[in-house]
Amino acid sequence: MSYDEVIGDEIEDPVQNQVTTSTSGITKQLTRDPFLERTIEKINDFCYYLRQFIHQTTYFGCKITKFFVNTQIFLQNIWSIQKKVVILQPQKEKDNELWTIITRRMQQVRAKKFLGQHFLTDLSVAQKIAETTLKGQSDEVQSTTEKVRVLEIGPGMGVLTQFLLKNPNIQLTAIEIDRESVAYLREWYPELNLVEGDFLKLDLDQLFPEGEFNVIGNYPYNISSQIFFKVLDYKDRIPVCSGMIQKEVAERLASKPGNKAYGILSVLLQAYYDIEYLFTVHEHVFNPPPKVKSAVIRMTRNKRRRLDCDEALFKTIVKTAFNQRRKQMRNSLKSLVEREKTASLKEKSLITNERLEWFLTRRPEQLSVEEFVELTNLIENERNQDIL
Ligand code: SAH
Repeated sequence: MSYDEVIGDEIEDPVQNQVTTSTSGITKQLTRDPFLERTIEKINDFCYYLRQFIHQTTYFGCKITKFFVNTQIFLQNIWSIQKKVVILQPQKEKDNELWTIITRRMQQVRAKKFLGQHFLTDLSVAQKIAETTLKGQSDEVQSTTEKVRVLEIGPGMGVLTQFLLKNPNIQLTAIEIDRESVAYLREWYPELNLVEGDFLKLDLDQLFPEGEFNVIGNYPYNISSQIFFKVLDYKDRIPVCSGMIQKEVAERLASKPGNKAYGILSVLLQAYYDIEYLFTVHEHVFNPPPKVKSAVIRMTRNKRRRLDCDEALFKTIVKTAFNQRRKQMRNSLKSLVEREKTASLKEKSLITNERLEWFLTRRPEQLSVEEFVELTNLIENERNQDIL
């Protein structure tokens, strides 16, 4: 079988039909595989010229010719395997989707560790994550016919994106930092409203000058805490933030007081959001697999518009207390409680309130959000008394 025959087969009708009927994009990709096409062409040209110069009857000539003929056959085999892939392409829509993902991975975006890139390869997990964003909102939306705006962070190769785009109740915007992923997404999802850039530096007021928007993603794990701090800055405009993070972080966010995992982000987020740990995801459904397990969470804004205390002081107290989580808060919060005392009072270090005394003998991981609020007020009172 000559090279021409193989190529000739490739552009036969079944393949072309697939191109026009398929929505998956696989055939588009394979028929346009220019690298393989060029390589085969070059080898063939080379073999052709070689045969002109080497006398095939000599021993040496035979060996060389055989080597190149074998190479030629090898490449042709790859070509026909690809061709078979095209012809065997499943017809059912569901299978088609799966196939899309498998074959898209043939033209992968190189996974970059420093960007936390671990691409999800399990479509059912992707679909389940995509479904987390409209909890309780979908009915409302259908009746008002207004779409929910959703911002996806780090779409990568669009495994989640495709489900979000398909949902008629969602108006999707995505932000991706990786240039290669952006090029890929622009090619495969031209309809996607995509911003190229760093979410942490993104001016959300400019992107969404008013109104609410949900946040979703299979987040880059290396910056997930920073992402949530930014979500907190916009808490009054982000009713739902959901997606996948490292399992340990998910446990921390959702954990209750008294638990070892309970920390700064648990308190700060739980003050404003109800946090649900939805399900665990194993590392083998990623490419490349991360070293850690993953989990999907959903944070839904609670009814508490404002905390019953000075919110900035609350934040400072929580952060300061957890910086030395093993210690009694008497030690870690000393400077905060006494900051505005006069020198003489500082020497005596008198704390008049019994309740505050009691709080200061505790460790931060024992306190609920409400207790931190109470503590903030007590500390504020204490400081005000000292000023008087
Ligand atoms: N959602 C995809 C990719 C997850 S990997 C999937 O499930 O397969 C995390 C993605 O976040 C990568 O595509 C990475 O490039 C992107 N990313 C990393 N840091 C980012 C940042 N600061 N801003 C926006 N995207 C970022």
